[in-house]
Amino acid sequence: MRPTALSPGATIGIVGGGQLGRMTALAAAHLGYRVHVYCEEADNPAARVAAANTVARYDDGAALARFARAIDVATCEFENVPARTIAAIAMHVPFRPGAAVFRICQDRLKEKDFVNAAGVPTAPYRRVDTLAQLRAALGEIGVPAILKTRRFGYDGKGQVRIADTADAAKAWASIGRLPAILEGLVRFRREVSVLVARGADGEVATYDPVENTHVDHILDTTIAPAVLSRRAATRARSIARRLAEGLDLVGLIAVEMFETRDGRLLVNELAPRPHNSGHWTIEGARTSQFEQTVRAVCGLPLGDPGRRANALMKNLVGHEIDAWPRLVADPALKPHHYGKNEVRAGRKVGHVTRLYPLDARPRPRDIDLGRHDRRDKE
Ligand code: AMP
Repeated sequence: MRPTALSPGATIGIVGGGQLGRMTALAAAHLGYRVHVYCEEADNPAARVAAANTVARYDDGAALARFARAIDVATCEFENVPARTIAAIAMHVPFRPGAAVFRICQDRLKEKDFVNAAGVPTAPYRRVDTLAQLRAALGEIGVPAILKTRRFGYDGKGQVRIADTADAAKAWASIGRLPAILEGLVRFRREVSVLVARGADGEVATYDPVENTHVDHILDTTIAPAVLSRRAATRARSIARRLAEGLDLVGLIAVEMFETRDGRLLVNELAPRPHNSGHWTIEGARTSQFEQTVRAVCGLPLGDPGRRANALMKNLVGHEIDAWPRLVADPALKPHHYGKNEVRAGRKVGHVTRLYPLDARPRPRDIDLGRHDRRDKE
């Protein structure tokens, strides 16, 4: 049975104030919902397009209670929301996805254990809490390998590649001797991701797998759809669906995977929120990932995730945004500016999307930032 849907006029609370919250708030407004943003930083991109805004620490119990009483449902736009913050809000209103999803997705070890227990393969990995364990893990997994902190890693932060077992102590020090995992290096043909939404009644919608390329560990472009065999595309979607069901998800997650050179799909990471590799869906899919998140969180029927067009999404990172006048002048592009108050190297400040007919193949170089292109620098 479908749970009662929130009516237009209801308020969605979003924890976090970045561009993902901003684009979710814009989608919520289209469906008649109000958004209340809770963020530690004032003047954030999401608050500027939201109906209400709380600036307080994530451990401020009184502010969290006030926030929770002012909203009808809560979600978040980054996965590292402290468990206590979620618990404080969930005492008053449903928090979607639920706390258990965050417990898994905030910890690389728990995440990989969960994925394997669901019958889905990952790269080989071992738990590492000490230098001795790291040495033992290197003996089992071999080199090259990647040492990753269990928590708070993103965009390549908190991880180091180990090419030689003699470098174990140096690598262990470089990640701050924090609880970690050691992963075997995957020789991948491409990196793909699949978005999947699931409603409170168990309805599931999966998007086409897309292909992602990174520069300096930060997503640079996404191509929709990924060039996969029909069999691999079906498998990628069924993996995403199985994981969403295993998590008892209500909301939307992104599942990042490697396609290996011998054609296997290995799950790398889960993100329990809209994802950068899903920005193309704003123009390229019948229902954007942001609208889908709102639908799932508010108990509405899910929208059609089908592809309206093929798409290329290019992130604008740091001073790539200086190409803005050229990008807004190009009728082939749909530009998105996040309105951040400061442009810093490595910071995502906008993106642009280009659409193509359903039988055309986008190429990353189709979006040209001229001399501002980060890909041209060393
Ligand atoms: P992560 O923070 O786990 O998403 O890793 C960031 C990026 O590092 C990925 O998108 C890959 O490009 C690369 N990477 C991470 N883990 C592996 C692995 N086990 N083998 C090869 N490349 C990896």
